[in-house]
Amino acid sequence: MIWPIAVTLFGLVIGSFLNVCIYRIPRGESIIRPGSHCPFCLKPIKPYDNIPLLSYFFLGGRCRYCKARISPRYPLVEITSAIFALAVLYRFGPGLRFIVYYTFISALLVITFIDIDHKMIPNTITIGGIIAGLALNPLLPVTLKESLLGLILGSGTLLMVIYGYFFITGRQGMGGGDVKLLGMIGVFTGWHGVVFTLLISSLIGSITGIVWIMLTNKGMKAAIPFGPFLSLGAVIYMFWGQYLINAYMGFMNAG
Ligand SMILES: [Zn+2]
Repeated sequence: MIWPIAVTLFGLVIGSFLNVCIYRIPRGESIIRPGSHCPFCLKPIKPYDNIPLLSYFFLGGRCRYCKARISPRYPLVEITSAIFALAVLYRFGPGLRFIVYYTFISALLVITFIDIDHKMIPNTITIGGIIAGLALNPLLPVTLKESLLGLILGSGTLLMVIYGYFFITGRQGMGGGDVKLLGMIGVFTGWHGVVFTLLISSLIGSITGIVWIMLTNKGMKAAIPFGPFLSLGAVIYMFWGQYLINAYMGFMNAG
């Protein structure tokens, strides 16, 4: 019983740090210094007001000093991080693999929110992730060859999609950040993971896009960032990819 509790607390604390990354990395600020401060009155946040999850509720979702409303996304990211930490523990057990997969998922979580906020994906995370993933290859369930093929297939496919889309419409659909993101996902999941992630994220992305257009009447020009869908696809592959592929194969063979 000690592992799940420890991992949940760990996930909450890391989630708090991920909030800092989401806010500061796209602004080009250091993620270490200075310490947390209120984004409105800039007053430093005292350690006892900076407890993940709890502080948000004790303070009623407001800054202690200026009473500005703090986004509910802060506790949301902390809870999501803790849930992922638990999920990775149950799927992969404690140990080095936990660290590798949880770090990978944390990177995807940060990318998702930065892409939603700023419509961009920072190179520091994707290129850093590609390098880290290749270095950590012995800990991954994919060979170095599968990993490199994933990198080439992932970034190559999206590059072709971007050029193709530009050639046909004269507009740029996805950005270069998506190219590097799918490359990074390929490094961690191999080329199988890239194929799966691309299919699932396109499917979920299309459905979301159609619903979005129907609800908002904004048309396709209100570009929806693709990074969150790629991230979601990669997470689905990590936990259920093999199961879904087997189920699909069984279904096809039965038919
Ligand atoms: Zn304040």
